[in-house]
Amino acid sequence: MFNIDNILRKNIKELVPYSSARDEFKGEASIFLDANENSYGSPLNRNYNRYPDPLQWKVKNRLAEIKGVPAKNIFLGNGSDEAIDILFRAFCNPGVDNVITLPPTYGMYEVSANINDVEVRKVPLRTDYQLNMEAIAEAIDEHTRIIFICSPNNPTGNSIDRQDIETILANYNGLVVIDEAYINYSRQKTFIQELTEYSNLVILQTLSKAWGLAGLRVGMAFASEEIIEIFNKVKPPYNINEASQELALEALQNVDQINNWIKETVAEREKLIAELTQIPFVLKIYPSDANFILVKTGNPKGIYSHLVNLGIIVRDRSKVELCEGCLRITIGTPQENIELLNALKSFQESDKI
Ligand SMILES: *Cc1c(COP(=O)(O)O)cnc(C)c1O
Repeated sequence: MFNIDNILRKNIKELVPYSSARDEFKGEASIFLDANENSYGSPLNRNYNRYPDPLQWKVKNRLAEIKGVPAKNIFLGNGSDEAIDILFRAFCNPGVDNVITLPPTYGMYEVSANINDVEVRKVPLRTDYQLNMEAIAEAIDEHTRIIFICSPNNPTGNSIDRQDIETILANYNGLVVIDEAYINYSRQKTFIQELTEYSNLVILQTLSKAWGLAGLRVGMAFASEEIIEIFNKVKPPYNINEASQELALEALQNVDQINNWIKETVAEREKLIAELTQIPFVLKIYPSDANFILVKTGNPKGIYSHLVNLGIIVRDRSKVELCEGCLRITIGTPQENIELLNALKSFQESDKI
């Protein structure tokens, strides 16, 4: 059985969190002389002279409506990366505990582990990019605190089998983090509705991808109230700035626009896959539930340089284990995708000479 006290670091359990001026007085007032802010205003003519809401309730309440989950089960971070870092700082003792990652996958889990001096046990995906359940079971020991599952996975693009994730959630006593950065593009549904079922579940999502707000740095974690309280205790008091909160709230009114972009991106993805299949040096296109595709070619370096020369940048993943020969290509606008295809076809021609 999962019990948060078994994995929470002792220093975090005993931590007295920073108490800000905004924590100590929450009522209505007309004169605020409690936070050493500039009472005269800001040069920007907005209320940026005031500290922002430390718990971002307006944004969370709107997200609660959109996601169908209570606001108390939501944490907002300065990107998902902040949520990942807090997981290490709250639950993993440096030099003692370990986490499991399932490569090829998102690089931040390992970087964050290294920063926090936490051992990473890598259990590679199978060649079909699904979980190696036996190897995961073998890798777990009494110091394993977190298993990171990225679904849809970056850079492979596929969703992880739901039944396998549920098996881990039901049988593993540590935290199971499901990174759903690309869930909006997926045929699979989110695990958010499973939060009531599994107390060890943490779901990561972000405004950086489908919501088109990578520049604002707003990531989300969904988890039990008990876990969210730990996040809030450890985070810097004002981790989401006022401008980001205001703009995120404004953007979250435009659900229809986002849904249209998602539909268009998915349609473009399928079109691009169909077109790429016709190109002889494209050896394989992996099925994608994301806004990118992983494409195996005979000459990834040559194609990458050829595209760069034409001002088109893709991600070279050809050195990554299990992604040999692969480029990761983000789905662009229809016009960008046409230009990409033309550029690729011109490589095909020069290659023949
Ligand atoms: C892009 C991405 C994120 C998003 O990170 P932010 O810090 O929220 O921008 C998280 N996880 C994965 C797997 C990603 O590819």
